Amino acid sequence: MSDQSAASDDGSDTSIDSADTGTETDTDTDTDEIDTDDVPPETPLQPPPLLTGEYLPQLRATLADATHLLVCLDFDGTLAPIVDEPDAAAPTTANETAVAGLVDAAPVTTAIVSGRSLADVRTRIDGPRIYAGNHGLELAWNETVAVHPVAHERAARLETVCELLETVLDPISNVRIENKRLTGTVHVRTVPPAARPTVRRLTRTVVDRFGGDELEVSPGKRILEIGPTIDWGKGDAVDVITSTLPDGTVPLYIGDDVTDESAFRAIDSDGISIRVGDDDPSTASYRVRSPAAVARVLDWLGTAGVALVGQRTQLLSGTELWNDDPRVGPIPERWPTPVANE
Ligand SMILES: [Mg+2]
Repeated sequence: MSDQSAASDDGSDTSIDSADTGTETDTDTDTDEIDTDDVPPETPLQPPPLLTGEYLPQLRATLADATHLLVCLDFDGTLAPIVDEPDAAAPTTANETAVAGLVDAAPVTTAIVSGRSLADVRTRIDGPRIYAGNHGLELAWNETVAVHPVAHERAARLETVCELLETVLDPISNVRIENKRLTGTVHVRTVPPAARPTVRRLTRTVVDRFGGDELEVSPGKRILEIGPTIDWGKGDAVDVITSTLPDGTVPLYIGDDVTDESAFRAIDSDGISIRVGDDDPSTASYRVRSPAAVARVLDWLGTAGVALVGQRTQLLSGTELWNDDPRVGPIPERWPTPVANE
């Protein structure tokens, strides 16, 4: 981390997140937007602890056991502060720099895992080897792009629903419908608060009536996502990516929203999961407050963290267990019948 005290090697620092003043203005706490179906009902979630220097020994131990590190990063609210106009979202300079450092680090594979379409998110942050767009429904993998076949089949119906929503929601000011080809987003951030319940109700009605069994609505931070009714999310994308990397790879995931919870669960105790934001309940292991704090975590990973990866195994075997260009294999069989993205 650029905060020198946070990168100290003696583990005494407690300032990983303590100096954060935050750049994010989003304080969305709409309780009706919490997806209670997204968490196991038997597990009462708690807010994860703030990632402070107190946890550095744990992070060091995890990284020292790794032969390789997979860093998966959400975009909006994680690398980029949430803004009213989604087209204006951009990573902070510190995050851009930190991601570039990780991309260049030998024992690291970096992936962006976003709700945005691949085409969109790839223009906003350059460099990572792997991109998962549309909540993991499309994967860019070296020179290969694969689209989930069921989502691909339902794109035409999604387009119809988005067009209907344009008409139905037209009388409501500042509502924006975004067709991302495999999923759609109804943006309500700039909609007057009094009109938001109407937007949600009308969206659900249109999707229920014209999406049939093929499409469903799920909530996010001041958005409604419309997507195929399939059991596939960011966590599945993380599993697919992890499965192609060397044994001993430790995955790390940072994200800020409800849809990132499946990725936190995919990481489980094998790696490091970090939720960005206030003290929302989450399955993540840690939390940081803002994209500014994310940059400090990534900066630390790119320096002190990367130096630890493979260390213990090398001491045992006397050999390096990663190479300069770890091969990322073809789309694994778990992905059902990849469809080339024309
Ligand atoms: Mg996000």
